[in-house]
Amino acid sequence: MKFVYCPLCGKKLEERHSWDEGGVPYCSEDDMMFFDVPRPCIVVAIIKENKILLLKQSYIYKNSKVLVSGYISPDEKAEDAVYREVKEETGLIVDNIKYLGSDYVKGKDLLMLTYIAHYKSGEIIKSSEVEWLDWSNIEDAIGEMTEDKIGKAVVRKILNELK
Ligand SMILES: [Zn+2]
Repeated sequence: MKFVYCPLCGKKLEERHSWDEGGVPYCSEDDMMFFDVPRPCIVVAIIKENKILLLKQSYIYKNSKVLVSGYISPDEKAEDAVYREVKEETGLIVDNIKYLGSDYVKGKDLLMLTYIAHYKSGEIIKSSEVEWLDWSNIEDAIGEMTEDKIGKAVVRKILNELK
């Protein structure tokens, strides 16, 4: 996200030189710099034995299954966002949440933090944001995730680790 107006007072920002970042949008009223920031998101592969949980959410990709994903709230750790999003979207409880690496989505200005988590308990309860969700074989998942590039990269990492 690139700031044009001050998020505090609404004044149009001017450019001010920062010694290590170059020109940065600046509010003289609040004496504050507003650095460009991507929105941080989490993507998580939920694993249960040799199965992985896939979802269908047309508003993300029309013809592709995806992994659970969501925005990180300003007041929570990324791992807490993983736990919360999984519970909200699927009804399941996960543990052993492990970071796999980050990815950047150009155009959408998203910083995606990718995770693997293991199924712990609960039955699938579909949220209204989700059209379909179920367990798939990990080996078959990539073929079903045609449009989800980041999700596919996550599954490839997991397949490599399982070998
Ligand atoms: Zn201001």
